[in-house]
Amino acid sequence: MPDVFNPDSVRAFLLSLKNPTSGLPLLLAENISSVVVRDAMAGCVLTLGDGDKAGSESLRRAVETALLSLSGVQKAQVILTSEVAATDTAPPQRAAHKRPPAAGKMELPQLKNIIAVASGKGGVGKSTTAVNLAAAFLKQGLRVGILDADIYGPSLPRLLNLTERPPYLGDKKMAPLEKHGLFCMSLGLMVDAEKPVIWRGPMVMGAIEQMFRDVVWPELDVLVVDMPPGTGDAQLTLAQRIPVTGAVIVSTPQDLALLDARKGLKMFQQTGVPVLGIVENMSFYCCPQCGHRAEIFGHGGAREEAGRLGVPFLGEIPLHLSIRESSDNGLPIVLAEPDSAYAAAYRGVAGLLAQAFSKA
Ligand code: ADP
Repeated sequence: MPDVFNPDSVRAFLLSLKNPTSGLPLLLAENISSVVVRDAMAGCVLTLGDGDKAGSESLRRAVETALLSLSGVQKAQVILTSEVAATDTAPPQRAAHKRPPAAGKMELPQLKNIIAVASGKGGVGKSTTAVNLAAAFLKQGLRVGILDADIYGPSLPRLLNLTERPPYLGDKKMAPLEKHGLFCMSLGLMVDAEKPVIWRGPMVMGAIEQMFRDVVWPELDVLVVDMPPGTGDAQLTLAQRIPVTGAVIVSTPQDLALLDARKGLKMFQQTGVPVLGIVENMSFYCCPQCGHRAEIFGHGGAREEAGRLGVPFLGEIPLHLSIRESSDNGLPIVLAEPDSAYAAAYRGVAGLLAQAFSKA
């Protein structure tokens, strides 16, 4: 146990750990990077070769447990990656990647699938859908991250009640926060929510790229990206620079919203991002008292539109007080009320998406 609790002593401690069965060192110096010590938290990034993948999760847990045994450490965060070596100076260590890197796109081999959740306009429930889909993927046993790229109105901190700043790892790198088992990052965690931020085109592009490049994402089965509404620089950057598996369009049943949604959908199609489907949010109203179903905005518009546009229809999410309340309480309904019909609606959409990306 180190006498002094600092990055060097924590690194030395990590190097002294032994495999309990073989007695050999558990980690090599080249496995360990970005050792961070802050308040009562200690963490590091572990880069493992392809051959070490099988036991990587148990190794991560063992190292976290070892860190927690240090006096003064109350929280430990160990991030597994095969990407951290992909800096300017070191040759990248490749993990199995389903998508071949396309020209001009960033290589993000540790993110197996990247799903952009988009909408033609604000207020249709895009962020609520994104966070509940992420939770539904988690319930399927997948390793999931959520990236709030809605730079104009980041809402992930409220939706998941995130209050901490993401740990800074040095060398301009940051670790995502972990909440309810989801790896999370939002620009809202870095900027003052009260201060308006004016984004010029190049800044938007830089911010989106940074959230992929400078955040040390662990190996994830799926990263859900909550996009800003509309069709602008953020969508273009994503399409051009990020190896996105596909986009999900969230729309309300009103025609006007669908018109906007259609523009969003066309933009993804034109920029070569596969559209995985449309979700109709606030599809019908469920009375919390009697369960009566009322179709106040009309109903079925998104399903018909999806049919006309030749993209899959992924499902209908009802308008219900519990969905709004659970979001406001910082626990998405899929986690707060997993047995409810509302959680089942999100799980249905996630199930169809998982099928779609397993084929992608
Ligand atoms: P967007 O990301 O499209 O701007 P939000 O996800 O922030 O939209 O949702 C806008 C508001 O609508 C929030 O108050 C949210 O809680 C609420 N909301 C979203 N979807 C539903 C739903 N299905 N039922 C009830 N309230 C919802």
